[in-house]
Amino acid sequence: MNVKLLVATHNKGKVREYAEMLSELDVSWCNLDDVGVTEDVPETGSTFAENAILKAQAYARLTGLLTLADDSGLEVDALGGAPGVYTARFGGEGLSHEERYRLLLMRLADVPWAKRGARFRCVIALAGVGGVLLGTAEGVCEGMIALEPAGEGGFGYDPVFYLPERKKTMAELPSSVKHQISHRGRALRQIAPLLQRVIRELG
Ligand code: IMP
Repeated sequence: MNVKLLVATHNKGKVREYAEMLSELDVSWCNLDDVGVTEDVPETGSTFAENAILKAQAYARLTGLLTLADDSGLEVDALGGAPGVYTARFGGEGLSHEERYRLLLMRLADVPWAKRGARFRCVIALAGVGGVLLGTAEGVCEGMIALEPAGEGGFGYDPVFYLPERKKTMAELPSSVKHQISHRGRALRQIAPLLQRVIRELG
């Protein structure tokens, strides 16, 4: 029997990324819209882990499905680790991705190169039927905030996230390379063995 795996997001692009990265899994991938969930679980946690766990558990309870949820964001050293869990809302509601990363560049205008360290962090949580938490995994991708944007790929802050060892921003990398080194790719590869085990047991 083919197991249904819910990725707790309305973003089809995110589910596609997950399915690409875990193509070996024999599951039917679905998102919140596919299963008719309209409830919004507010991200009230103060850490990525708290938010990922509360979303995975709440949506697993609501749907009765095996559920993956993630929470991710950017930690900027010169801002004391901000925006962190507020990354998606940095600068306020209603801004475009470009307006947000341009605001970040403005805030860092006087910060010298050596102090522009930053990282993307992602926590993924897996919850089973009834909302029981089965496990979590965390992935980190270290880099720097560029002096100006470059590249067209990826999304969000990718054009200003510079990877010194590649001498490129995340937005300049092909998506296959981004999957290998990204915070989300790393977290997903970590949780994959648990996911495989659970799917074998359910299937
Ligand atoms: P969420 O985990 O989907 O809530 O994402 C939080 C926010 O972090 C997103 O809106 C993006 O702005 C940012 N973010 C997370 N992952 C990435 C990434 O891989 N590239 C660029 N920005 C990201």
